[in-house]
Amino acid sequence: MSSDLTENNFITEYDIFKEHKDSNESIDKLDSKMKGKLIKSIYMECISKNYNGIDSIISKKYTMEDIVRDREERMSRQEWLIRDYLSPLISIRVNYPGLNKNNCVSFIIMKVFSALVIDKFKDKIMYKDLQATAEGPVLTLIINEDVYKIKKLAINVEDNHFLGRFVDIDVFGNNGVELSRRELGLESRRCYICGQEAYNCAGSGRYDVDEIKEYIENKLEEYLKNKLS
Ligand SMILES: [Zn+2]
Repeated sequence: MSSDLTENNFITEYDIFKEHKDSNESIDKLDSKMKGKLIKSIYMECISKNYNGIDSIISKKYTMEDIVRDREERMSRQEWLIRDYLSPLISIRVNYPGLNKNNCVSFIIMKVFSALVIDKFKDKIMYKDLQATAEGPVLTLIINEDVYKIKKLAINVEDNHFLGRFVDIDVFGNNGVELSRRELGLESRRCYICGQEAYNCAGSGRYDVDEIKEYIENKLEEYLKNKLS
């Protein structure tokens, strides 16, 4: 099957997921051609027909320091994008544990939400960009829309989509300040394993990384199967 995938133009996310599951190998050993194909499909369907080849960097190994550095870089990039466009910004990232955040699972999840959010705002999108960094896939959008409307949609997606708990959708106003759930009179997000406030659990080492990965994979498989039927 794997050799067919690279030749075939039509490839579903479920095919990729199955291949990933059946490979019985660590994620980073997975056929890089297939991973590249997936990323290319997200890019071309959601971002631009002029594909810029970001799949070349997905096999890179990252450290904790890389994640901290790329996070800081993202924040400053967001700041100058907002200053440039004077409009609200959305940053979408996948909540995936461990150091290898660029993999089939995280990119399939990113594809689901890229398509959804881009479709919601369509002609109001002034800028869009997909990157593969130490933080995993990052989608950045500048949207010509009321920031509270954007935040409400983000919360709705995070809370009600079947895979919503596995993404972070940050929303910033044209003053560069991030909108919080609290500002809209809502409680902060809950941990998807135990249901307590998420910031108590995130990075606390309370859970085994493999346990979380398995949890995410099972939910993703359920989602993709339902989509097929
Ligand atoms: Zn928890």
